[in-house]
Amino acid sequence: MASILIAEDEARISAFVEKGLRSAGYATRVATTGPEALDLALSDEFDMMILDIGLPGMDGFEVLSNVRGSGSNLPVIVLTARGGGADTVAGLEGGADDYMAKPFRFDELLARIRLRMQSTQAASGEAALSHRGLELDVRTRRAKVAGTEVDLSGREFMLAEELMRHAGQVLSREQLLSRVWGYDFDPGSNVVDVYIRYLRNKLGADRIETVRGMGYRMV
Ligand code: CA
Repeated sequence: MASILIAEDEARISAFVEKGLRSAGYATRVATTGPEALDLALSDEFDMMILDIGLPGMDGFEVLSNVRGSGSNLPVIVLTARGGGADTVAGLEGGADDYMAKPFRFDELLARIRLRMQSTQAASGEAALSHRGLELDVRTRRAKVAGTEVDLSGREFMLAEELMRHAGQVLSREQLLSRVWGYDFDPGSNVVDVYIRYLRNKLGADRIETVRGMGYRMV
């Protein structure tokens, strides 16, 4: 049975999420402070963490950066009460796999959890991808260019992986949005272009080609 850590200090919300997840067949545990969430996240007992940003002791961003800093690739879905786009980007850059703004519908949270669980399982089937000197280890989420390790955020890694699995093919922004972000981002959003830029900076500018009017291709 997959086990989910719920880091949330509002009892009303954690009870609601816990009840829903248990009836969907998951084991759950609730952490009510940042330090407790961090300890449990690093315990290796969980398959995913639902992480509230507003936590006592240590906020969710700090918990997440400590989790990633310790080399853990635990899938994390961030819950945020704040509506600002800057927070969201900070959350994604900090290594979150997905985020949801409160208030949210439980069925939507569950859909995202299932999607993340599936992509983790799919990824564990094929451990290493390699293409023209770029290597991705999908288990440890480590990336190397010409043998040198490159630090990628969770989302950057997923985008690189998607492009690499389809090297030579053009993928449209919409395809990348739905496969990498996994839900209905605003189709007018430039988030794909922003992350392509991050990847070009980190992996080399000539690796990802822009195909005008169509999308992107790993060459
Ligand atoms: Ca809170």
